[in-house]
Amino acid sequence: MYSDVSLFIDGVWTKAADGRTIPVVNPASGEPIGTVAHAGSADLDRALEAADKGFRAWRKVSAFDRSKLMRKAATLLRDRADTIAPLLTLEQGKPLAEAKGEVLAGADVIDWFAEEARRAYGRVIPARAEGIYQLVVKEPVGPVAAFTPWNFPINQVVRKLSCALATGCSIIVKAPEETPASPAELIRAFADAGVPAGVVNLVYGVPSEISSYLIPHPVIRKVSFTGSTVIGKQLAAMAGAHMKRVTMELGGHAPSIVFDDADVDLASRLLSTNKLRNAGQVCVSPTRFLVQEKVYKTFVGKFTEAVKAMKVGDGLEKGTQMGPLANPRRIAAMEALIGDAVQKGATLETGGHRIGNKGNFYEPTVLSDVPTNARIMNEEPFGPVAVVTPFTSFDDVVAEANRLPYGLAAYAYTRSAKTANAIAAAVETGMISINHHGLALPEVPFGGVKDSGYGSEGGSEALEAYLVTKFVSQAGI
Ligand code: NAD
Repeated sequence: MYSDVSLFIDGVWTKAADGRTIPVVNPASGEPIGTVAHAGSADLDRALEAADKGFRAWRKVSAFDRSKLMRKAATLLRDRADTIAPLLTLEQGKPLAEAKGEVLAGADVIDWFAEEARRAYGRVIPARAEGIYQLVVKEPVGPVAAFTPWNFPINQVVRKLSCALATGCSIIVKAPEETPASPAELIRAFADAGVPAGVVNLVYGVPSEISSYLIPHPVIRKVSFTGSTVIGKQLAAMAGAHMKRVTMELGGHAPSIVFDDADVDLASRLLSTNKLRNAGQVCVSPTRFLVQEKVYKTFVGKFTEAVKAMKVGDGLEKGTQMGPLANPRRIAAMEALIGDAVQKGATLETGGHRIGNKGNFYEPTVLSDVPTNARIMNEEPFGPVAVVTPFTSFDDVVAEANRLPYGLAAYAYTRSAKTANAIAAAVETGMISINHHGLALPEVPFGGVKDSGYGSEGGSEALEAYLVTKFVSQAGI
């Protein structure tokens, strides 16, 4: 059912001009399942020309009509969820239910931004003289270059794409080469809904070649990237050199704080499920588990039991709760980070090994009493490993939570409203969810601070990043 994936340029599905392709591998088997077209500079030139033309046409379409087309794309995506989800699982590994959830959540994102498209209001500023109108008008920033990773092949594209289209921008999406088919199906929903040629373009290839070609190009007016902090800094610097607007959604190392007065059952249940979602390859995954001394042992026990009970397998098999890691690089990273932590004195409560020798399966892992100098306490783990460590006081946990340059998500569990308010105010992150997991809905802001990036990919803040402000002062004659 997996077929070769093409580029989408100027409204046409097409092979690369020079015919090059990249193999796509199923992470559950290690076997090739297809190929994706590899764009070269001739293809990128055509995509740029198309995006330029597409922008000129799309910005003239009324917000009302843009919104209608977007909603049609959302309906098509929803209707096709049962055929798109297996493609996503085959190329990325996540369990089928998670894959279907991602497709349906993608449709919700499109719907929300379609509605918000109609509310990109400006304002009128009272003038100093009679007969003068001072208008603040919001205009689309222009053609967008978007770079998205393999962990949520649809979700990472749909936010950027929906913001761009809602505001009247055109877009060139550089989607992930390792997981190309599901984002292509997202683009197909927009094409089939009738979005004009050139408005949406899709390319794959060598990420660094494509970003260094598109970002400096005069046609491109806005850059949006999701991925690692290291690459994000490189791309932000390049965009800065060419004065391009930027949204950066980068890595995190989420402090997940359990206070003495927390509901420990609730905390261990919700945190273990969220830890292992998408095998931990999530930028807002709970990662540094900071647990107050009185409940530390109880939490480690309950949490480890919940993690051990997780069924690992091929995402297409019924009952699988955690699939393989998306690529062999993650296995190597787990082995290095976990090995280093154990060597520095951490206790391996469960897991810590690769499963079998076919595909990228890795045991869900819990490390306790992890010393601060272990690499895993400092580097984003991006895998199925929880790092648990005790703390004494509120001030201690705030110091640890804010110790790293990351500032994306945080979680906290407490029965005290006072502690909840205090921790929400004290953590240096873009998001915090307390006593439940409530991040990443389309209508709420999504983004980080510090080395986790800037800008938002959710809520009305997300639209602002794709709009420029024009001031018009007009005298009646
Ligand atoms: P990586 O850092 O090479 O790549 C991360 C993503 O950036 C990939 O999608 C890749 O295609 C893209 N990329 C890399 N170089 C690029 C360039 N010069 N121009 C444009 N795009 C570029 O490493 P990786 O092995 O794919 O992932 C490893 C790390 O990346 C993870 O440990 C995690 O920290 C981070 N990551 C974060 C997210 C997220 O949701 N924020 C998603 C995927 C990966």
